[in-house]
Amino acid sequence: MDQVQTIKKDDIEIRIIRPKCIGAATCVVYAPATFDLDKTNIAIIKEGQWDKLEKIIAAAQSCPVTAIEVFSGGKKLFPKE
Ligand code: SF4
Repeated sequence: MDQVQTIKKDDIEIRIIRPKCIGAATCVVYAPATFDLDKTNIAIIKEGQWDKLEKIIAAAQSCPVTAIEVFSGGKKLFPKE
């Protein structure tokens, strides 16, 4: 797995900065169809049908180390710069 995992689907792009992830798993609680932990307890983006965008944003906001970035239409929705 790359250090940064990026998956784009339709208009939405999600990135996980994996070296930042501390395995707190709150992203998995907020958006269980989108995020999971791998066997080293580091977050990954899942294949298949994702959660709704609001849930994905909530998951990104819940991350204590801001390891999740969300883009839509090429614009960064979270974190805001
Ligand atoms: S919330 Fe952040 S630190 Fe916790 S598992 Fe998800 S990406 Fe990693």
